[in-house]
Amino acid sequence: MPPSANSFRCRNCIQIMFLCFHGTVVLGTNAPFTKILGFASTNSSFRIAIFADLHFGESASTDWGPLQDQNSTRVMSNVLHTENPDFVVYLGDVLTANNIPIKNATKYWEQAVWPTRSKNIPWASVFGNHDDMAFEWPQEWFGNLGVPSIQCSDSSLATDSPVSAPGSDQMADCYFQGTTRVELLETDAQHDLSHSLYGPESLWPSVSNYVLEIASYKHPKSPAALLYFIDSGGGSYPEVISNSQARWFQQTSAKRNPSSRIPEIIFWHIPSQAYKQIAPQPGCPIKDPCVGSINLESVASQEAEWGIMDILTDRTSVKAVFSGHNHGLDWCCPYKNLWLCFARHTGYGGYGTWPRGARILKLTEEPFELKSWIRMEDGTTHSHTILASAS
Ligand SMILES: [Zn+2]
Repeated sequence: MPPSANSFRCRNCIQIMFLCFHGTVVLGTNAPFTKILGFASTNSSFRIAIFADLHFGESASTDWGPLQDQNSTRVMSNVLHTENPDFVVYLGDVLTANNIPIKNATKYWEQAVWPTRSKNIPWASVFGNHDDMAFEWPQEWFGNLGVPSIQCSDSSLATDSPVSAPGSDQMADCYFQGTTRVELLETDAQHDLSHSLYGPESLWPSVSNYVLEIASYKHPKSPAALLYFIDSGGGSYPEVISNSQARWFQQTSAKRNPSSRIPEIIFWHIPSQAYKQIAPQPGCPIKDPCVGSINLESVASQEAEWGIMDILTDRTSVKAVFSGHNHGLDWCCPYKNLWLCFARHTGYGGYGTWPRGARILKLTEEPFELKSWIRMEDGTTHSHTILASAS
C-alpha cells in the first residue's frame, strides 16, 4: 500500500532539521515540506552531476548482468571524484525493472544511489520508463532449452554495498509485477540526503513532479535557481507529460517565481517532441549552434505533447531542459528561448556501448551563468558550453 502523503511529510519535516554536508539545508517559508539546497560556503558556484540511464538490474538473472552494475558504480564514483558536485540528479532509468524478477527492486535502487550517498552528496531522482516495469519473460526461455532456473533471492543484495548479485534460484522469492513508482520513491526519499519528493497525488500515476530551490549564495533566504522535476511517464503508463502536469508547472512556477526573475531548470527522462524539431540529422556532425559529441540515433520522444513546451517557452526564466532516454545522443541545441539537452549515458546497463559519462552543470549566481560539459569515465571532458548568462 502506498504511504499517505501525511506520513511522508512528517518524516521529511524531521529530515529538514539535518544540515547537509554540501551546503546548508534550511526550511523555506514558501515550501515547508521540501529541503532547500545551498551553495557550499567556500564556493560561489553550484555544480550538478546528472546520472542518466544507469539501468541497474539489467540481466539480473545472469552471472554477467551484475558486473554491469559494478561498472556503473565505478563510472559514478569516478565522476564524483573528479567533479565533486554539490548535487546529483538521477535522470531516470535507474533500473531495468523488466529484467528484475524480485519484489523489492529497491535493493538495486539502493546500489545506484550508493556512490553519491557514500560521499555525502545530496541527490534527487525523476522516473524513467524502465523503473517500474513488470518483469518481461525472454522469448528464448521458451524454446528448446526451456525456462532456465531463475535467480530471485535478494539475500546477497546488501543495501550498504555497491557490489552484489542475486545468488539463489529459489522460485519462492520470485515476483514478476515490478516495484511501483511510489515504492521506489519511498525508498529513495527515506535517506537524509535525498531531495526526491512525491508529486501532488492529483497528478498520479505520474509521481516524480516537484520543485527544489537552490538558495542564494549571498542572500540565503531568496532562491538563486529553481529545479523542476517532471515525470515523463513510461513503464506502467504511457510516455507522456499530461496536460495536468503542464498546468501544475504553470501554476507552481507562477506562484514561486511570478516575475520570472529566478532562473528555472527542468529535468525529465524522455525527450519531448520538440527535441525532434531541432535534432541534428542522425549520423551527421553536430554543428553550431548545437554542441555535443554523439548523434547516432533518432530522438525517441514522448508519445504526445499536451502543452508543456508552450508553457516552458512562455517563461523567459526557463533556461534549459535535460533529458536522458536516448543513449546514443548527448547534444544540446537551442529551441526558441531555451536549450534542449540530452544528458550522457552513465550506466553500463541499457543498450549501446558508447563510452560512459555524465553531464555536468555549473551554476554561478552573480552574474548569473549556467555552464555545462560532459565528464567521461576516463576523466576527460568535452562539449563545454554556456547555456545561459546574465548578459
Ligand atoms: Zn535508458
